[in-house]
Amino acid sequence: MSARTSKQYLAGLADEREVWLDGRRVKVTEEPRLRGSLAGMSGYYDWQHKYAEDCLVTDPVSGKPMSASLIIPRSREDLAVRHRCYDRIARYSYGMLGRTPDYCNTTLSGQAGRPDVWAKGDMRYHENLKRFHREVIEGDLSLTHTIIHAAIDRSVPELSGMNADLTLRVTSRHSDRIVVSGAKLLATLGPFADEIFVYPAAPIQKGEEQYALVFSVPVKTKGVIQICRDHYGVDAKLRDRPFSARFDEQDAFVIFDNVEVPNERVFVDGNLDVYNAIAPAVFPGNVLQQTSIRAAVKLEFAYDLCVQIARAQNTEKRPDVVMMLGEIYGYLQLTRMAINSAETRAFDSGSGTYFPHPDLAIVKTFMPMWMLRVNDIIDTLGTHNLLVTPNMDTFEDPRMRQLLERFMPGANGMSAQERARIFRTAWDFSGSALGSRVELYERYYLASRQRSLAGDHFTAQATEKWGQVRGFLEESGAL
Ligand SMILES: Cc1cc2nc3c(=O)[nH]c(=O)nc-3n(C[C@H](O)[C@H](O)[C@H](O)COP(=O)(O)OP(=O)(O)OC[C@H]3O[C@@H](n4cnc5c(N)ncnc54)[C@H](O)[C@@H]3O)c2cc1C
Repeated sequence: MSARTSKQYLAGLADEREVWLDGRRVKVTEEPRLRGSLAGMSGYYDWQHKYAEDCLVTDPVSGKPMSASLIIPRSREDLAVRHRCYDRIARYSYGMLGRTPDYCNTTLSGQAGRPDVWAKGDMRYHENLKRFHREVIEGDLSLTHTIIHAAIDRSVPELSGMNADLTLRVTSRHSDRIVVSGAKLLATLGPFADEIFVYPAAPIQKGEEQYALVFSVPVKTKGVIQICRDHYGVDAKLRDRPFSARFDEQDAFVIFDNVEVPNERVFVDGNLDVYNAIAPAVFPGNVLQQTSIRAAVKLEFAYDLCVQIARAQNTEKRPDVVMMLGEIYGYLQLTRMAINSAETRAFDSGSGTYFPHPDLAIVKTFMPMWMLRVNDIIDTLGTHNLLVTPNMDTFEDPRMRQLLERFMPGANGMSAQERARIFRTAWDFSGSALGSRVELYERYYLASRQRSLAGDHFTAQATEKWGQVRGFLEESGAL
């Protein structure tokens, strides 16, 4: 098939998947509350055809169009192709969708392109992974991932105490399959995905091999149970809630209740050398290319949004306001420079696969702070205007329209409708239920900032030479 349309994607979701929403098991394709979000998610597939020159490439095996996010990059030119794809896809939601399928595609392609990581163990597992990669290309499948152990008791290590019992692990092995049980958190897009891909985030220790699993199963597999958080998509007009009306990518907690995983879908089973090497090999330079480009596109939008907010109030020249606008632009420029620098210094990271330089990971550490600050700036600039904004239907009434044009216009000659559009978009971006969820996503979707900071320090110690203080004191004769 390759490069699906929205219609083909939606047809694939009409199956027996077990999804719980508000205390009821629901059929995602028939659930009225999910209609807007499904339209938004499926629109991704039409978008990739609309912008085929950016989003699609020719599959060298089948000769059919495939998503550029699924290529295994072998050169800087390939990375430039991927860059255009990520950028174009991010513009579909201006970065408000974190888990458009290009995200997991990038992880999967990265793993498929790194057989050297699997060479520490039995290469048949990597053959399984490569076959799965082909399946995803040919079906243009939508993947969710669950990579975090469902640790509840934070006073003990993640796989100790009560956590040991509730986390996903192998419960039995058979000649043709393994059986797994336990929980994982969480699956963004899970209810709207075709496959649930389980792979490592943090390393695990010797003795914990039963948790060292990488596999993928269709979301509809018996025993895969998804419990949705409240749905924040709203049945509203696009012009009133441009994000909430379409872009709730729906997170779910996942329970695997005796799920059978056929051998051919197992990519790691207990080999810690391979398991612990995957995340460092494919996250920093590879996945971060997609996430950083999405973030840059979102910062572009946020900057323009804040300029519009300032214009609507004629505060664009006020010193405090211009500083805040400059601050967002600074975050954008730093992000662009980090991407550019990492892409320019891309190298063969193993097995002939090119990834941007892994120091792109620094974007992951600082972006959560910047995204929070952006929302803070929107609140600071927007104040009550973010709320005191009429529903766009109000303008349909001639009398009300006249009154609003008189008493609620924007400054600088801006019409009341334009003013309302700007503030409604701003609130949906940062303050609505969906906006708040996206803020939490930015904070935590790739581990907490504290973990990132600690990781950056360990990287610094491992990759650079230190001793400046002693050197200075020696040179200056102070020692
Ligand atoms: C909206 C959303 C969507 C997500 N989607 C997915 C998904 O699709 N798939 C998936 O697998 N996961 C997903 N996640 C989960 C995400 O990966 C985890 O929430 C994230 O890794 C943080 O979880 P944690 O509890 O492991 O964080 P931890 O790093 O354990 O942090 C927990 C808390 O402790 C603090 N903390 C941690 N270490 C320290 C320290 N040394 N000192 C002080 N404080 C510290 C952190 O700041 C945080 O407040 C999503 C999360 C969110 C919020």
